[in-house]
Amino acid sequence: MNVPELVMPGGDLEKVKVAALFGADAVYMGGPHFSLRAYAGNLDSEDMNEAIAFLQQRGKKAYITVNIIAKNRDLAALPAYLEELASLKPDALIVSDLGVMRLARRYAPDLPLTISTQANVCNYEAAAAFADLGAQRLVLARELDLDEIEEIRRKMNIELELFVHGAMCVAFSGRCLLSHYMTGRSANQGACAHPCRYSYALQEEKRPGQYFPIHEDPRGTYILNSRDLCLLRHLPRLIEMGIDAFKVEGRMKSPLYLASTAGVYRQAIERYTATGKAFEPDELETWLRELERTATRPFTSAFIDHDQEMQDVDKGSKGEKAEFCGIVKGFNPLGFLEVEQRANFGPGDTLELLLPGGEAKPLSLAILYNRDMEPMDRARHARQRVYIPSPEAVPEYSVLRRIVKQDEP
Ligand code: SF4
Repeated sequence: MNVPELVMPGGDLEKVKVAALFGADAVYMGGPHFSLRAYAGNLDSEDMNEAIAFLQQRGKKAYITVNIIAKNRDLAALPAYLEELASLKPDALIVSDLGVMRLARRYAPDLPLTISTQANVCNYEAAAAFADLGAQRLVLARELDLDEIEEIRRKMNIELELFVHGAMCVAFSGRCLLSHYMTGRSANQGACAHPCRYSYALQEEKRPGQYFPIHEDPRGTYILNSRDLCLLRHLPRLIEMGIDAFKVEGRMKSPLYLASTAGVYRQAIERYTATGKAFEPDELETWLRELERTATRPFTSAFIDHDQEMQDVDKGSKGEKAEFCGIVKGFNPLGFLEVEQRANFGPGDTLELLLPGGEAKPLSLAILYNRDMEPMDRARHARQRVYIPSPEAVPEYSVLRRIVKQDEP
């Protein structure tokens, strides 16, 4: 059976490593220029070099995004940048603009090209056009249903990649001027301020300053706020169809999100391709519960099966949540886990270590120490190294998280 690649985002060097160790087959990342997600902590050349080496040494792939919709003013710097990327020898470039693609063919001719979802490929003729131009892989538009995806698969002999998880736009992916209009930051240049997530109200012309809620709860009105995509249930059919790669959105998300999401999709892909049997309700429930713990919004299957509940008008997901507290940096010979702090935590919290492979181990924390082995009540300072007594080592880059209950609706 075809085993699709799991393609995870890598917003910085640490996230690249976490994504790879928790199950990604490939990681996509932006360089310092010409990448959507301009505010996502893209990698500089040195980090990108290290990230590519880290991935390739482990038999994994590194994809670099150059997927802005370029304007004339962007073109002059592209040749040198593309040559620089070519010298780093990633496994592919991800492009969406035809001009960038043409320049990539000329200045990075040995690098395979993937067409970004920003190119909105929705039919097999568009797919064929990109194949004719030399694309090796297409990331299909998110706005397709299962039958449409299947027809493109049947008619096209080109690698197909599909977003299966993560945030959605209310516009055709990225083809949206809302952010530019409201904040001056352009989504098409990687600078979206996500105004579709803002709270909106209705104002009647003759009542200036008086706002009528459109749908109200105590937090406000979120008519444009899309739920997050989750196609976990559809994985078996997509695998049977012959989709080559499953992609997860979220270069700006935390290492905890990457670890949790990569772990679940890795298990689901392996489980189905090993047995060919439909997912059992209880295993699906376990995976979905894990994914929901790191999600900020409820899930939708969106266009793929014409889900009618695509907007999160109630704002936010409920139930049990996992919060990112720190990342394991080592285990010292005296029997202490060395953890780099990312959020205030300490004794009394319900803590777990999420390990590469997907296992979550409860961590009972009675005391912790600073670098000088002085006891502390809590880890409070950003990126502080703290030491936790532990009977056993856990792998580097294991993620420390706190489980919290949120109010039920
Ligand atoms: S404002 Fe919302 S819909 Fe528009 S590009 Fe940004 S995330 Fe997408």
